[in-house]
Amino acid sequence: MQTTIYSINDKTIKKAVELFNASEVVAVPTETVYGLGAVGTDSVAVKKIFEIKGRPSDNPLIAHVHKDYDISKLVYIEQDYVDKLIKAFTPGPLTMVFNSKGVVCKEAVGGGSTLAIRIPSHEGCQKLLKALDKPVVAPSANLSKHTSPVTAMHVYNDLNGKIEMILDGGKCSGGIESTVVDCTDKVPRILRAGLITKEMIEKVVGACLIAEHKSSDKVRSPGVKYKHYRPNCQTALYNENEIDLAIKRYDKEASEGKRAFIMCRDDLKGEFFGKNLLLLGKTEEQIASNLYDKLLEGEKIADIIIAIAMPDEKNINLGIMNRMRKSCE
Ligand code: AMP
Ligand code: MG
Repeated sequence: MQTTIYSINDKTIKKAVELFNASEVVAVPTETVYGLGAVGTDSVAVKKIFEIKGRPSDNPLIAHVHKDYDISKLVYIEQDYVDKLIKAFTPGPLTMVFNSKGVVCKEAVGGGSTLAIRIPSHEGCQKLLKALDKPVVAPSANLSKHTSPVTAMHVYNDLNGKIEMILDGGKCSGGIESTVVDCTDKVPRILRAGLITKEMIEKVVGACLIAEHKSSDKVRSPGVKYKHYRPNCQTALYNENEIDLAIKRYDKEASEGKRAFIMCRDDLKGEFFGKNLLLLGKTEEQIASNLYDKLLEGEKIADIIIAIAMPDEKNINLGIMNRMRKSCE
C-alpha cells in the first residue's frame, strides 16, 4: 500500500471522510500527538488500528468528537462537575472517562464498560470531525511501544506502507498525550497526567485526585501498564543532582566510540559545554511540546540519549516525567 501525506484542507478532509466511511483508518493531527483513527462504531475498521500498530487488544482507544457533538449519545454523564470540566477545558487536551452506552464497539474499549472521550482543539481535526459527524476512535499513530508522533513525517516513518492517508496539520503544539480523567466517581481522578493539571482541575471543580498505579491494583487506565514511548536507540535517565554522573556516562560512551547526546532543558546547557545536546526548551509547555520531537530526532543521530530529569514532578512536569521515565529509564 502506498502511504501519502496530504496537507489538511477541505478537499483532503472530504477524501478522509470517504475513507473513514469505507472502513479505512486515517492518521490525523491533533493538538497533543498524531492519532490513528477509525469510526468508533465500525469494528472492522477498529480492528485494523490494533493490527497496524501491534497494539495489545486490552488497551482501549479514545473517542474523538467535534465540539457540537452530543456526547450523551455515547456515554452516561453521571457527575455534576462534568459540565464545568467541559466548559473550562474543551476543546482541548482533556480526555474524560464515562460509563459507555455501548454505541462505540467493544473492540475500541478493550472489552471494558467505560469509554474515554476527547474534543480536540486542533482546527483541522475539528473540521474533519464535524464533516464526518461520527466518533473517531484513535490511539497515537505510532507502532506500539515507540515514541508518539508529533509531525506527519514521524507518522510516515512508523506506518509507511501500512495506511493510505496521513493528514498533515503541522507540528502538534501540545506534544504529550491528553490528560485522562475518570469522571465516573464523585471526585474526578487523573489516570494519565498531561497538560491539563490537577491544580487546573481543582481550581474549576474543587477537588481532584491522582490515581496511583501499584502493581497489585486493577489497572484503571490500561495504557499506563505497557512499555511506551521508547526511541530506537539506547537511553539513560539521570536526576538533576546527578549531572556529574551523567557527564561521566557521556564520556565513557563517547570513549567507546558511541555517539552520545545529552537531552536536557535549555538552562542546563552550560553544564554540558562542548557535548552533543538535544535541547528541550525553557518552559514546561515548551519542554512537553519538544520531548517526543527530540527523542525522534535523537534516535536518528545518537547511539545513546542521556536524559536529564525535570527538577520536580509538579504541574506539567508530572506528565513530562511520566513520559521521560517510560522512554528513557
Ligand atoms: P494512547 O494515548 O495511544 O495510549 O491511547 C489511549 C489511552 O487512553 C489508553 O492507552 C489509556 O491509557 C487511555 N484510555 C482510553 N480509554 C480508556 C478508558 N475507558 N479508561 C481508562 N483509560 C482509557
Ligand atoms: Mg500511544
